[in-house]
Amino acid sequence: MVGNKDNKKQNSPIKDWRRSKIIATIGPSTNSYELVVELIKSGANAIRLNFSHGSHEERTAQIKWIRKASKQLGQPVAIIQDLQGPKIRLGDFEGIINVHKGQTLPLEYMADFSKNGHIPTQYDLSLKVKRGERVMLFDGRVHGIVSSIKDGVVYVDMLNDGILIKRKGINVPDTDFKGDVITPKDKADLVYGSSQDIDYVALSFVQSAEDIKSLSSLLGAMNFSAKIIAKIETKSAIDNLEEIVIESDVVMIARGDLAVETPAESIPIVQRKIIGLGQKHATPTIVATQMLISMTEQLEPSRAEVSDVATAVLVGTDCLMLSDETASGNYPIEAVKTMQRIIRYTEMHSPLSVSFNNETDHSMQTAISEAIIKLAKTINAKAIVAETKSGLTAVHIAAKRIDIPLIAVTNDERTVNQLAIVYGIESYLRPAEKKAANKLTDWLRDNRVFNKGDIVVTVSGKYPGVVGTTDTIKVRMLE
Ligand code: PGA
Ligand code: MN
Repeated sequence: MVGNKDNKKQNSPIKDWRRSKIIATIGPSTNSYELVVELIKSGANAIRLNFSHGSHEERTAQIKWIRKASKQLGQPVAIIQDLQGPKIRLGDFEGIINVHKGQTLPLEYMADFSKNGHIPTQYDLSLKVKRGERVMLFDGRVHGIVSSIKDGVVYVDMLNDGILIKRKGINVPDTDFKGDVITPKDKADLVYGSSQDIDYVALSFVQSAEDIKSLSSLLGAMNFSAKIIAKIETKSAIDNLEEIVIESDVVMIARGDLAVETPAESIPIVQRKIIGLGQKHATPTIVATQMLISMTEQLEPSRAEVSDVATAVLVGTDCLMLSDETASGNYPIEAVKTMQRIIRYTEMHSPLSVSFNNETDHSMQTAISEAIIKLAKTINAKAIVAETKSGLTAVHIAAKRIDIPLIAVTNDERTVNQLAIVYGIESYLRPAEKKAANKLTDWLRDNRVFNKGDIVVTVSGKYPGVVGTTDTIKVRMLE
């Protein structure tokens, strides 16, 4: 059970609890049980499985390792299934293809370059792109404009010189996928995922809130209890930002593809805007990609990277993500440790900041969150303890970015892991019963996280373990 006697939290003073969380991507550099244990010990709160690579057999083994490590360390860990989405890639061909400005390049789904000189793609672009739209090849290094589409071949007029290497990414920022971002591969991966112990599904290349609704009904039909992370990495997503933030459970600022599809210089501002919207709507946020990228090659991060990580913490993002650093880099564990150190230092030396002026809405969740926070502040409570089934109560309180430790207690294993990526929440699994919060706080007192005489504020419902019944706020002095 999570939160057992080995729980490291029982030994660490409450003031040392880290508020911003870390997601590590598993890959060839971390592909063993021992390395998963190291990732979690070093500070990873969640592990991302990138479904752009790897087989289902490999995934099944990794999921087992993560769950075993989580139990052994007494630490909840969120498992994220990151779907490839319409990530368009070049297909396979031998060697390097040189391209030149002014040249018209034929792109064709699964073409054989050695036969007719058509460049193979792993997705049938001819079904989606229109004349005049931009095509960026090799992750944005070579640009072109669609001049015509004929018999399944997309002809692209090249705007600069460059090279193409097999399987590199293609971006089509002007193309409307018309609600068709969940590909057949994604659907097959979801069927697999629904049979596994997965907490979040991340959807790539989201264009509108409709995409989230489609995924949500797919998950519902499969009886798949994962929550949804929307990856913000297209121009359309930026145009529909607030609706997507409202519709999603979590949003990721996926800066890798986003910087190809929108101007790179706009990303820092967009990042702040998304984090602010996340706080406004109680949607947790993840800052992703290249946070410590130089650590794939060397032990020390660059000065700019340290500053990037600290900045994300200062504006109060919920989560920071490592990709290549832990998946394929030379120093995966050191990267997590470094990120953890920067987060801790920044949190300890700067006051909490909220990047959005919270507007008050009239929802029950907001009203309860505001009341409990006001009460906790007034009486100088040591912690807020939320009994929660779905996690929503705790997520709403966390969204207010308060300076009071927040403890969530739930009887739902999915929820305890899902809360692992939310700002400032320490989540514990306990049976559903009246006084679950009291029992947990007594246990934390026995383990010296709290002292006798400490005051805690608890929020709970009449019917423990039932969603949407939160109605009771209590003040309690620990004896
Ligand atoms: P990816 O997503 O690593 O799956 O491409 C993150 C990003 O684009 O930044
Ligand atoms: Mn991406």
